[in-house]
Amino acid sequence: MDTFDQNHIWHPYAKVPNAVPAHLVKSADGVYLNLESGRVIDGMSSWWSAIHGYNHPVLNKAVTDQLNKMSHVMFGGLTHDPAITLAKTLVEITPANLTKVFFTDSGSVAVESALKMALQYWHNKGQSNKNRFVTILGGYHGDTFGAMSVCDPDNGMHHLFTGVLPKHLFAKSPSIVSMDEALLDLESTLKQHSDSIAAMILEPVVQGAGGMRIYNPQYLLKAKALCEKFDVLFILDEIATGFGRTGELFAFEYVDVEPDILCLGKALTGGYMTLAATLTTDDISSEVGTLMHGPTFMANPLACSVANASINLLLNYPWQDNIANIEAILNSELSSLRNEECVAEVRILGAIGVVELTQDIDIEKTQALLIEQGVWLRPYGKLLYTMPPFNISKQELLKITKAITTIVKL
Ligand SMILES: *Cc1c(COP(=O)(O)O)cnc(C)c1O
Repeated sequence: MDTFDQNHIWHPYAKVPNAVPAHLVKSADGVYLNLESGRVIDGMSSWWSAIHGYNHPVLNKAVTDQLNKMSHVMFGGLTHDPAITLAKTLVEITPANLTKVFFTDSGSVAVESALKMALQYWHNKGQSNKNRFVTILGGYHGDTFGAMSVCDPDNGMHHLFTGVLPKHLFAKSPSIVSMDEALLDLESTLKQHSDSIAAMILEPVVQGAGGMRIYNPQYLLKAKALCEKFDVLFILDEIATGFGRTGELFAFEYVDVEPDILCLGKALTGGYMTLAATLTTDDISSEVGTLMHGPTFMANPLACSVANASINLLLNYPWQDNIANIEAILNSELSSLRNEECVAEVRILGAIGVVELTQDIDIEKTQALLIEQGVWLRPYGKLLYTMPPFNISKQELLKITKAITTIVKL
């Protein structure tokens, strides 16, 4: 623990001084974080992003090579190879209808840009009345105001910002009620309000920070069909799920669905640097015209270079096998925790393992116990969960599942 940090620096969703002092990380390599107090296996991939682990020679080289050319130039009126290569790749690996790429510097801003695209699209079509969004409960799309307004109203701090946040529409989530019930709710919302709805936005298959819930991918197909029927754009936020985490390269590939707008982030750079992208179609981009957005660090060359290296790395080894192996271990080691009285649910998909308890977790105590066992996890609310780097070994993963099991059985 560092006293200055503790007394002067804000950490995510925390107060100053931090309720629980932050652990000092000296370095990181492979799947390990080297804390001042010892070495721990990172079961969080630094919030979904470090899919290849840390200090990876290939990713390091991509950054240093680019650093020796230029670390940053403005993107207004200038362009560079790392951005061009990355945009080409993103267009190639996403559905055929997505051909246009807007780079931003964080996931939240990718979501802001997606929302702006949808609003400008309808405005330029002469339908400025279509200026609201519909989403499902339990979602998370970021912390900026536009993004926050489509987060779950309870988890998303809406109560703190009543009167400031625009009021959007929330349909029941297929992860909480049945898919049929969720679809009926969505249909009635669209039927009633489609005149004022620009787009639907949702996280495909896995709702991340809003509650780590998993739903039937078929919902995506049916929700998209409803959006088409009611003339509402369909935005998928793949920021958490993209680049292999769920077992598909993108979670929407579980079904044959093409979003109108797609947000990518987090694992895009293999967790090295902040970068995000919003993709859309020819039709939408031409209707949008000039997109009123342009961050200072748009398409940062270092970030684009490491993104190119990370995607290459991912696509050139059998990552599906890694995810399948991780999923099998999570299933065999965590599933039986369902029988514990203190466990409400165990949810596993790809390289995501979630144990939801019936009671809130004592974060400080739990984290201390985890670190004692050589494992880094960041539980929140009732959720104890892991989404490890894809190159974690069986032994290392078993250490994580054993630590989770020990906590649950305390
Ligand atoms: C993390 C996340 C965001 C926000 O990304 P930041 O880079 O933290 O701004 C948006 N949507 C989803 C689904 C996320 O998981």
